[in-house]
Amino acid sequence: KFITFEGGEGAGKTTQAKLLAEALEKAGVETLLTREPGGTFGAEAIRDLVLEGTSDRWSGMTELLLMYAARLDHVEKLIKPALHRGVWVISDRFADSSLAYQGYARGLGADRVKAVHEAVMGGFEPDLTILFDMDPVLAQKRVETRGEDLTRFDAEGLEFHKTLRSAFLAIADENPNRVHTVDADGARGNVQNRILFALTKQFPD
Ligand code: C5P
Ligand code: MG
Repeated sequence: KFITFEGGEGAGKTTQAKLLAEALEKAGVETLLTREPGGTFGAEAIRDLVLEGTSDRWSGMTELLLMYAARLDHVEKLIKPALHRGVWVISDRFADSSLAYQGYARGLGADRVKAVHEAVMGGFEPDLTILFDMDPVLAQKRVETRGEDLTRFDAEGLEFHKTLRSAFLAIADENPNRVHTVDADGARGNVQNRILFALTKQFPD
């Protein structure tokens, strides 16, 4: 199974991805935890190219194509081979982030992102996507108290993060059979239970 975690910054995706991978391993399921942009040597190099420096370094379309170059490498070299071996793959972000960030929040337009997606990925899709939904004001506080670098969050501004949130919710509405929205506010254990509930609903056996 291929499971992706999506949502804005500070929602707890990375923490919960680790917890889920541990829970699956404990249950005897071989699991691969990975992330985007990145996951392979080449894709991590592209991640540095995209995330370093200021946001005006690349045009919207160039950024999108870099993301998809990274994604294709990730899917071909890591994700598909693992799935073929029967390993469950959890990716901290995947294609919905491109649609939300580049398509909606950075204004490239959803249609162009979907066209690139179709051309590069064809019908390849996650079996389940967990959308971490959270008020961006709360998320910002979380990032702050975590002591993480706030420059990226602040550089984008609150309006950006509000747009991002609506974009992810719209994506969830469009894909009700794949995307389960989870309230990302609350204690770690509570959020983990919401995720496990979504898993048992999506994979009843
Ligand atoms: O998931 P993580 O917080 O590590 O993501 C790193 C950064 O990549 C985030 O700050 C996010 O804004 C950015 N990003 C992006 N476009 C994507 C995926 C991630 O701008 N498609
Ligand atoms: Mg993270």
